[in-house]
Amino acid sequence: MIDYQAILDTITNSLKHSAVKGEVPTYIPELAKVKDTNFGMYLNLVDGEKYGSGDWDKPFSIQSISKVLTLAKAVPLMGNKIFERVDVEPSGNPFNHMSLLELEKGIPRNPLINSGAIVIADMLVTHLDDPKEEFLQYVRDLTNDQSISYNEKVAESEARTGFNNYAAANLLKSFGNLINEVEDVLDFYFHQCSIEMTCEQLSNAFYMFANRGKCMRNTAHLTLNQVKRINAIMLTCGFYDEAGEFAFEVGLPGKSGVGGGIAALLPNEFTITCWAPGLNTQGNSYLGMQALELFTTQTNRSIF
Ligand code: GLN
Repeated sequence: MIDYQAILDTITNSLKHSAVKGEVPTYIPELAKVKDTNFGMYLNLVDGEKYGSGDWDKPFSIQSISKVLTLAKAVPLMGNKIFERVDVEPSGNPFNHMSLLELEKGIPRNPLINSGAIVIADMLVTHLDDPKEEFLQYVRDLTNDQSISYNEKVAESEARTGFNNYAAANLLKSFGNLINEVEDVLDFYFHQCSIEMTCEQLSNAFYMFANRGKCMRNTAHLTLNQVKRINAIMLTCGFYDEAGEFAFEVGLPGKSGVGGGIAALLPNEFTITCWAPGLNTQGNSYLGMQALELFTTQTNRSIF
């Protein structure tokens, strides 16, 4: 029997006081206010056991981790049509790089870089009657927690400084790969990124990716084939130009966000989340990457 609680506690105690913590991002002013001393982890075994350590119950901004949840919402609505407008190749570039695979067609390389997620946001704005409300309700249902919300201050903060995302959306619009108005799509996108969750809530939200498409409420949201595909996209594209490094060190499908969160999973076995706000130069949580490497090495549980 693996003593998961002891492993999480040991990792938390060894990393929480690291002298080097990475840098909290400043390009979204609201996120710059978060203390880099926060550190939390949470583990959900598919069989129902749960373990938390450190600041696992403090809410943080999930940022780009939301891109997996918008993709999961869009897949059953749109089917394979999604992949006519967004490719599934790793970009090898930073998250905010324009990387449109075929520049003349305006197709983003994958749904987890900003330009790809903006196209997915556009699809949801088209398909949902009240996109922000319905997406939030979806996340609440997946997580089985009605308290989850957007942080309006973070959404406004990013809307004021998100010039790069305006540029990406305008470029997509110029290629005809954005149906709705730039302002409407980005309002949705900035809100999805502003969702706040604790490590526990995030681990619960990702449970369906480990549990064959069934969420915490045991409702089926995705088919096995859809789960396989989304997990494959996380593995190859979830960490931008560090996706190779994450596979090499950690060996799990996962997704990072500039709020310092990481959500990862082993299909049919567990979901694990980590939050440490300091980022490395690739925009991934500096200590979070180390924590998950320690976890999969010490438990010997990864997809490899
Ligand atoms: N909201 C952020 C942005 O669009 C998300 C980036 C991230 O978390 N990597 O720049």
